[in-house]
Amino acid sequence: MPRRIKSAPTPDTASIEDVWELVGELTPQQRHCREKGHRFDIPYDVDVDLFSNEWIEYTKCACHVLKIQRVHRDSGRLGKKRTDYSESPGYVMKGKGRIDKDGRGVFRIANREGNPMYRKALAKAQRNQKRTRKAS
Ligand SMILES: [Zn+2]
Repeated sequence: MPRRIKSAPTPDTASIEDVWELVGELTPQQRHCREKGHRFDIPYDVDVDLFSNEWIEYTKCACHVLKIQRVHRDSGRLGKKRTDYSESPGYVMKGKGRIDKDGRGVFRIANREGNPMYRKALAKAQRNQKRTRKAS
């Protein structure tokens, strides 16, 4: 029997540095989905599994992540669901551990930096602060 070579264990939690690196590789839409979640609306394709009596619905988010959801034709109950990231390269960070709440904060910061609405609000607040300081 061939000896198994153990790969390095996956760290439990991704480092902040790793998350910033991921942010740099994602599209703006992917960064948005990382913070707010995907939005799957109307199926773009549908199959029927007559054996299990289920619809198989294919929906795609704007970031190109796919959801394949089974829905029972008579009860309407949700069956198996699968998410396919293959058309959204880079979305999943592999081998760096899961992204915890601090890592998710990185997406919130990144999504606000460079956003004109947030920059404008910050500039306005800073101008008002200077005026208040001069007055006192
Ligand atoms: Zn998405």
